[in-house]
Amino acid sequence: MIIVLKPNTEQTAMLKLMEVIKAYYAVDIQVINGEKLSLFALIGDTSAIDESRIAAVDCVERIIHVTEPYRKANRLFHPGNSEVEAGGIITGGTGITLAAGPCSVENTEQIIGIAKAVKASGAHFLRGGAFKPRTSPYSFQGLKYEGLDLLCRAKEETGLPIISEILSPNDIEVFTEKVDIIQVGARNMQNYDLLRQLGGVRKPVLLKRGLSATISEWLMSAEYIMAGGNDNIILCERGIRTFETYTRNTTDIGAIPVIKRLSHLPVWVDPSHASGKWWMVEPLALASIAAGADGLLIEVHNDPQHALSDGEQSIKPELFDKMVHGIKKIAFAVNRTL
Ligand code: PEP
Ligand code: MN
Repeated sequence: MIIVLKPNTEQTAMLKLMEVIKAYYAVDIQVINGEKLSLFALIGDTSAIDESRIAAVDCVERIIHVTEPYRKANRLFHPGNSEVEAGGIITGGTGITLAAGPCSVENTEQIIGIAKAVKASGAHFLRGGAFKPRTSPYSFQGLKYEGLDLLCRAKEETGLPIISEILSPNDIEVFTEKVDIIQVGARNMQNYDLLRQLGGVRKPVLLKRGLSATISEWLMSAEYIMAGGNDNIILCERGIRTFETYTRNTTDIGAIPVIKRLSHLPVWVDPSHASGKWWMVEPLALASIAAGADGLLIEVHNDPQHALSDGEQSIKPELFDKMVHGIKKIAFAVNRTL
């Protein structure tokens, strides 16, 4: 961190600022005196520094960051790609990971039928929402604990490990016991209490990007979980809000290479929520793999017209099967496997 001091700052003010910094933080300060301006270069771990406290001192002109505020998620301090293991599957290596299933778990036949179909097509994980974060309190809210049990039954039948979204920190224990990857949805990306508590378990977390979150805010949310000691994080791009209204969200394909540059964590894409339209899922899935994504989270429903949530963006098992062939070809073209 570099602190730029106001022109002609008196020596006494400089010493006072130094005292303020030293009183709170264990960093070294190197002073660089230019002709008009002086700079303080803070050396050491500056991640805990409360910048506003320093910016509030009269003689401070501005503060320049040399490194990003996230450390554990930062590729600078962890140059190799991180691999995350869940349910015997490794993601973040050379292989592409496919997770597929309905938006919501609806009943036994539905979830087991879809699980069998996506498994036959090559999916590695079954996704299914048991606790649904719906915009309207009158919409289907999910089967909750019964939904988790149905996912477990589908896992028993097919062997597919499961991914499901958590809404409340109170459910961490049951999720840790029952699911293979705990999904933190877009709406909870900045639920810091939930993130902090997920740092205390070792279960992999699929951290979706918030609806209007910058990449830096998203990585800071990953940092919350990692700061607690849980390094098993998969990031998931699911589209962001922009001025465009044709699609449910705007798929930020560009976020994939950015994340790959800034962080060592695996990154997946959810083309279903990213577009909101079933016919856009295949092209966006292919584009995501071409751009470097490590995995895909796809909504598949046997009867989208009667789905209890997100039917418009759910593809049928037949299309999922066709898509997998295309994904294989793109994966091969970018030196990945499926
Ligand atoms: C979901 O995956 O079912 C979901 C609600 O996604 P998001 O949090 O990205 O909206
Ligand atoms: Mn959904």
